[in-house]
Amino acid sequence: MNNRSIKIVLFFLLVTALSNCFGQISLPSVIEIRIYSSIKIKSLEATVLSGEYLLTDASGDISIISNGFENIEFFPAGNNNINVLIKGKLLELHSPVNLSGRGFENFILLQPSAAASFSRAYDDDLIIHAAEGELTVINRVALEKYIAGVVQAESGWFRHEEFYKVQATVARTYALRQLSRHQASGFHLCDQVHCQVFYGRCNYPEIIRGVWLSAADVIVDENNKLIESVYHANCGGQTVSSGDIWPQSVPYLTSVIDPWCADMPGSTWQASVSRDLFLDYLLNNHSLRLHHGQQLLSFSQKNRMRFLDSDELINLRFIRSHFNLRSTFFSFYEQDGQLLFKGRGYGHGVGLCQEGAMKMAENGYQADSIIKFYYRGVRISNLHHF
Ligand SMILES: [Zn+2]
Ligand SMILES: [Zn+2]
Repeated sequence: MNNRSIKIVLFFLLVTALSNCFGQISLPSVIEIRIYSSIKIKSLEATVLSGEYLLTDASGDISIISNGFENIEFFPAGNNNINVLIKGKLLELHSPVNLSGRGFENFILLQPSAAASFSRAYDDDLIIHAAEGELTVINRVALEKYIAGVVQAESGWFRHEEFYKVQATVARTYALRQLSRHQASGFHLCDQVHCQVFYGRCNYPEIIRGVWLSAADVIVDENNKLIESVYHANCGGQTVSSGDIWPQSVPYLTSVIDPWCADMPGSTWQASVSRDLFLDYLLNNHSLRLHHGQQLLSFSQKNRMRFLDSDELINLRFIRSHFNLRSTFFSFYEQDGQLLFKGRGYGHGVGLCQEGAMKMAENGYQADSIIKFYYRGVRISNLHHF
């Protein structure tokens, strides 16, 4: 093979490698989140807090500009239309109605017809649909603004900057991997724990800085695919292997001994369950004869176990879910008709332990080291570089 042929072969190898690497990953500039997805919205009040909004409906011939603390009210009308009260006028518009930001920085305060605690501010645009007497609200928002909102809702304030970079990278990777989750319903992600919790715009400068410093960073596996970047509050000292809770195990979600999350708020818990209720549960749900159940009135695990019984019939996840316990990393014993549970950790325990990651950040670890501690064999890629 001459030099020219070698160069051509190398060129094609490089092109193939790059397209394999990043062909599957695209970075959308905006994503659509169904907000208030846990409540029924009978009416919605909106107040422009910053910028300028254009109101249009599905027919495209209504266009009204709203700015400066003006209230707009939306109610479902007949034929799945939407009544809009704006500037003292009542309009019946075709669903969906769009509120599109046109100013330099656009955000809007929303108050649905529920408790006042649902009053929240959202960046960028809204799409409001009406069906069967209810409104569905979608926030079309710049990806990184959404990520900042998720970091605020999922990890709170007063954390180390390096932790915010970790949480932003993890949340971004998770969101991009799940983008088709609600495709059939016409939006990308919901705003509940099913996707990731998102309660609107982030107003905490340290979080925005962490998101900005990690912008477009994502976590990929050895095949350059976005990882399933699951996370939880506290692992109790040992994370759970994905194979213990999913049908197939994933190499980067393996069990890790975590020395960092002890002494954090979610590291230990206690609960008590009536002995009779526990035995009823074993009997009714696992068809155990009572004398067999009696043997299961004390249990301890030093390292994480999967099953309560030696026959491997009763997964600890069933017990956690039925009795609403914080984790499956528990021991218990009987006392005065009660089973006293002493547990470690908070959450499912797979992937990144948030409180451990916080402690690592406080101890000077960089974001990529923290991510690679909890997700084994991964790499951080920056999608802006391609
Ligand atoms: Zn969802
Ligand atoms: Zn941990």
